[in-house]
Amino acid sequence: MASETRKALIVVDVQNDFCPGGSLAVAHGDEVVAPLNKLVKEFLDRGEPVFKTRDWHPAKTKHFAAYGGIWPVHCVQGTRGAEFHPDLLEDPRITIISKGFDERADGYSGFDGTQLAQLLRDEGVEEVWVGGLATDYCVKQTVLDARRQGFDVRALADAMRAVNVNPKDGTKAIEEMKNAGAEIVGDARKAAGGESN
Ligand SMILES: [Zn+2]
Repeated sequence: MASETRKALIVVDVQNDFCPGGSLAVAHGDEVVAPLNKLVKEFLDRGEPVFKTRDWHPAKTKHFAAYGGIWPVHCVQGTRGAEFHPDLLEDPRITIISKGFDERADGYSGFDGTQLAQLLRDEGVEEVWVGGLATDYCVKQTVLDARRQGFDVRALADAMRAVNVNPKDGTKAIEEMKNAGAEIVGDARKAAGGESN
């Protein structure tokens, strides 16, 4: 059944440093690539906008443990770790949103300090589909900001994985997104646990 709702896909931070082998690897992080690629293709085939966010940090930022934050160095601008996972689809129609470049901020959300909300409005988008890495940080904050900005949100549980600094963080993040009015679709255990089954 055809829907009149204008949708966009937001692929959050599917970068080498968040995948196995990276400096801030999310367990099973690379498993989000296949389901996201399928959606990227479907959205582009229908002429719907696709955005890829990327963590794009300066070498010195309060986000990193060495400068007062909680994270190991990751996704520094121009490094291999900051590149998108090599299997993630590339296409000139995809808009890349860089974030996290403010050395005084964490920049978890794709909306934080970026043009994303305006770009979505310019495209007449009402509903965003969100997946990527990681469930309990950048995906969650992007979903919550999308809701604050007035967009309907589908959180793609099959296509996200959690860091789980604390064991329940992924589960809590799913609850927070749901409580904010996001529709959780797919297997929430995958999204919460970083587990493949
Ligand atoms: Zn970061």
